[in-house]
Amino acid sequence: MTSLLLNDTVALDAGWVSGALSLKEQEKVKDIFISHSHLDHTCTLPFLIDNNFSAPGFSLRIYAIPEVVASMKNHLFNNATWPDFTSLPNDLTPVLKLVEVKAEESVLVNGLTIRPVPVSHIVPTTGFIVEDRRASIGFSSDTGPTHRFWEIVNDLPNLKAVITETSFPNELQDLAQISGHLTPRTLDAELEKLKRDVPVYLYGGKPKHLKAIRKQVAALKRKKLSILEQGKTYKF
Ligand SMILES: [Zn+2]
Repeated sequence: MTSLLLNDTVALDAGWVSGALSLKEQEKVKDIFISHSHLDHTCTLPFLIDNNFSAPGFSLRIYAIPEVVASMKNHLFNNATWPDFTSLPNDLTPVLKLVEVKAEESVLVNGLTIRPVPVSHIVPTTGFIVEDRRASIGFSSDTGPTHRFWEIVNDLPNLKAVITETSFPNELQDLAQISGHLTPRTLDAELEKLKRDVPVYLYGGKPKHLKAIRKQVAALKRKKLSILEQGKTYKF
């Protein structure tokens, strides 16, 4: 269940927005960037909108590459799984706007420049590069071994941190490979592609395997590598 909240108003992915935030905090979220269509990255979008639909002035913009927008239109906000909020309460002033962003095209929201970068998962997926005047971070979202993300991250001025995933332990490498995820072993190879000396935070460990993943990540003995803590605020 993945969500990263930036400066109170912007979220990267929506696997846990309505679960983690109070109603007052949810109202402040105006822009959400969705990396891919999988439920653990999108499943609280319907409840976030439903919870706040009647709040005065509430509206939400969701940004994603065209393939991900199409998937949300066809499979989520399709008037079957959930109402199509892109035409509610009416077509002229809907509470939800789905905004297509091309890969590597920047969007400016609330002082942040955010750019989707394709990664290597089993459905069309992008990570995101987030920049302001002082800091840049790279969030890979779900991915197996990938290339372009690291290339872009290595070139970022003011890079402060990278957030990437490790979903399965080494003994489930086959499963990680067919599902487009990393294990500590493939993470180690990915981190060889990172040419910058910055902290790397991990998310995505499947709960059943978290203990093994933690042990195997620690065994990599990489000083600036740690697992992202749920609910914690990080400053970059
Ligand atoms: Zn996924």
